[in-house]
Amino acid sequence: MEQPISVTRSNFNDWMVPVFAPANFIPVRGEGSRIWDQENKEYIDFAGGIAVNALGHAHPVAVNALTEQATKLWHVGNGYTNEPVLRLAKQLTENTFADKVFFCNSGAEANEAALKLARKVGLDSGVAGKSGIVAFKNAFHGRTLFTVSAGGQPKYSQDFAPLPNGINHVAFNDLEAAKAVINEQTCAVIVEPIQGEGGVIPADIEFLKGLRALCDEFGALLIFDEVQTGVGRTGALYAYMNTGVIPDVLTTAKALGGGFPVGAMLTTDKFAPHFSVGTHGTTYGGNPLASAVAGAVFEFINTPEVLEGVKHRYQYFLNALNTLNAEHQIFEEIRGQGLLIGCVLKAEYAGKAKDITTWAGEEGLLALIAGPDVVRFTPSLIIPEQDIDEGIARLKRALAKLAK
Ligand SMILES: *Cc1c(COP(=O)(O)O)cnc(C)c1O
Repeated sequence: MEQPISVTRSNFNDWMVPVFAPANFIPVRGEGSRIWDQENKEYIDFAGGIAVNALGHAHPVAVNALTEQATKLWHVGNGYTNEPVLRLAKQLTENTFADKVFFCNSGAEANEAALKLARKVGLDSGVAGKSGIVAFKNAFHGRTLFTVSAGGQPKYSQDFAPLPNGINHVAFNDLEAAKAVINEQTCAVIVEPIQGEGGVIPADIEFLKGLRALCDEFGALLIFDEVQTGVGRTGALYAYMNTGVIPDVLTTAKALGGGFPVGAMLTTDKFAPHFSVGTHGTTYGGNPLASAVAGAVFEFINTPEVLEGVKHRYQYFLNALNTLNAEHQIFEEIRGQGLLIGCVLKAEYAGKAKDITTWAGEEGLLALIAGPDVVRFTPSLIIPEQDIDEGIARLKRALAKLAK
């Protein structure tokens, strides 16, 4: 075989549209919660591909599902259904509130489908002008035009005007503010049970219950964006299960494929029929390859052992972070649920989250930010305790640079 083309990090700047600023090393290989770069330097992975690599890297369950399906059938197009997608749909509907599933390839696409479904349900209701969407400040729902518009961070949408209209943003966790804008013209309320990109901010249960009641009162769909919180991330299969609030629509992606791109919109028999043949679609969504991997990942995660393991690891992580913080006094607050953890920097370190992840990289640790003031960890759901210990030791060395 020919030698592969030789590439370096600087080639990113040569050839890639500059929407990202990746670290100055290139990961080439991973196993479990460890990654190696081109120089064979090892890293502990507390980033988990942004809450995606739920089983870590190269887990045999995912590798076997992928390779087995790869030799059989990759893609057939929407003129045909396939076995893996039907199996995955059965798993998702049997284990959640949902009766029906629409498959796609990403979180943004799942939310796009959810918002379009809500608009269609509003139209079909016969109530004039029932197209209003209520969303929350600081929210993140993806990067398509509709989803950046629904998101509550103007920096992601303002350059792309004119935006789809009829979207109203109010403060997160402020039920009175939501009450003031939800009415007969509202077709949907979209909310993250824990705002992920926005800084790892959990929704109050009373807030979610209040939204449920308002949606019932005014005939609006309650959409839970569980793209980041879903598939075991919080220690429940889906975060709504921790809240006692059942949405009408749930979107899931990220961890669903364990690293293989796949997304889904879940809903009920009440709303699914508002989409009919031709109203919405996708070329790749629910293809056999993605569905086979997702089915295997989902089955592995949806067990008491793995889900309990997430809660246990949360406590373990939290203890280690608290010990570290007692010594160094860097974090104002450590918040989140399960293996979605946000460490909020004290005021004197405001804006330093990105620097900390850069120093973490130098020390051999992959970590994330959630805005300028929050260091975020979303590791594999099955990360071994010794990798947590080693990652925390490396984090400690990175934080020492902050003190300087
Ligand atoms: C990541 C994320 C999205 C977007 O998912 P993509 O797969 O990047 O399109 C949407 N909503 C939430 C809550 C997310 O965390």
